[in-house]
Amino acid sequence: MAQGGDATLWVAVIGAGPAGYYTAEALTAGEQNVRVDIIDRLPTPYGLIRAGVAPDHQSIKNVSRRYEATNQRDDVRFVGNLSLGRDVTLKELQDIYDVVVLATGAAKDRPLGVEGEDLPGVIGSGAFVGWYNSHPDYKDLEPDLRVASVAVIGNGNVAVDVARILAKTAEEMASSDLAGHAAAEIHSSAIKDIYLLGRRGPLEAAFTPKELGELNKLENCVTLVDGDQLPPTDIDETLSGATKKNMTVLRAMAENSENDKPVRLHIQFYRRPMAIVGDDCTCAIRLEETLVEDGKCVGTGRSEVLPVGLVVPCIGYRSSPLEDVPYDEWRGVYENEDGLISTGLYCVGWCRRGPTGTIGTNKPDGAGIAAKILAEVQPSGKPGRDGLENIVQDRDLKIVTFQDWKKIEAVEIDTAKGEAPRAKIADVEEMVSIAEND
Ligand code: NAP
Repeated sequence: MAQGGDATLWVAVIGAGPAGYYTAEALTAGEQNVRVDIIDRLPTPYGLIRAGVAPDHQSIKNVSRRYEATNQRDDVRFVGNLSLGRDVTLKELQDIYDVVVLATGAAKDRPLGVEGEDLPGVIGSGAFVGWYNSHPDYKDLEPDLRVASVAVIGNGNVAVDVARILAKTAEEMASSDLAGHAAAEIHSSAIKDIYLLGRRGPLEAAFTPKELGELNKLENCVTLVDGDQLPPTDIDETLSGATKKNMTVLRAMAENSENDKPVRLHIQFYRRPMAIVGDDCTCAIRLEETLVEDGKCVGTGRSEVLPVGLVVPCIGYRSSPLEDVPYDEWRGVYENEDGLISTGLYCVGWCRRGPTGTIGTNKPDGAGIAAKILAEVQPSGKPGRDGLENIVQDRDLKIVTFQDWKKIEAVEIDTAKGEAPRAKIADVEEMVSIAEND
């Protein structure tokens, strides 16, 4: 058991998203002398809160205030713009810290596994959402939105987010922090038809009623559902609360008419992608009609070709493999036993259990891994923060502290226009230069 007293347990958490912050919070909540450095390759904290949560869902982003409070503590420090692999190795961190916790999320798009998915007009949700949320990796993505129709693949909340962001008007997004470069493209796009395609049926859909319901309240876009794809109302009593509410929303959508508004969002079930068709651009998607048998998606052999100029698969994510960390190829997570990878090396959140659940799911995750660490690891006199400082100085690395981040945030807030809460900066060099200014 890690002891109190003078000996410090030094912990490096890699990844400043919800899982990383809840872990740091839980590690420092008790009597033990624990110090945590939360290291992130970006100059900005909060991970998916900043780069994943939809820009028009500002209230969800308020949870970052809790992480900010964690950062006000002396025993927790944010170290931004420091990349594991590029600036420092895992071995070096393990020499300096008693414990390294990977909280790196799941940043890679799961492949669709169909012919044509490398065509230029196929952009996975990780990249597409990153683009409209000002993630530095995707600021130059330049998706071609001069297309009449778009296929959004998947029936989860990410697919719903993508469809909604494409459908909302500039006025509807006025109080959001949608990236400026994305607003310019989306609000001048030629998109008239958005297809939200599920490979199974309405009863199996993963989206939640509140998020689905937002699609029926769009200013310029009507959501259409084929009533024949919905189950009869007499099964409603057998359904779980969320599924039952989804059916109510879908039935209301089935009453809509395609002439109601200038843009149409078609929710189509029982369609699985077989190929993306095109030459040097995407021009169609071949879909197979499906059935659901024992909960599983089964092809009928009947297919159709849907003309679309852009395909956004929103079918889940995988963690990025890291050198010297065993990787479960099938699940796309680090191999671990209840969060333990090897002595002194742990993982938490999506890179431990896969990309599911809400932000709040990471809270018990963080508490669980913190309790495990405190029970399993003792302080061993490692240098911790001082050791990292030496590496930073020797390599002349430009790290971004929490105070530096607050300067970046102040510029983002100051430069916001109208009702927007902030004008997000997507360029790392620009952020680092703001951080360096007095
Ligand atoms: P998700 O909820 O797991 O949904 C993934 C969807 O992709 C499912 O409909 C799945 O269908 C489909 N899919 C998977 N492989 C496919 C394939 N090869 N072809 C066609 N469809 C395929 O994942 P997500 O939408 O990425 O969301 C991740 C997590 O974040 C979820 O827990 C979600 O609720 C959460 N989230 C929450 C919010 C919010 O609360 N507002 C917003 C965004 C995300 P099957 O079911 O048939 O596999």
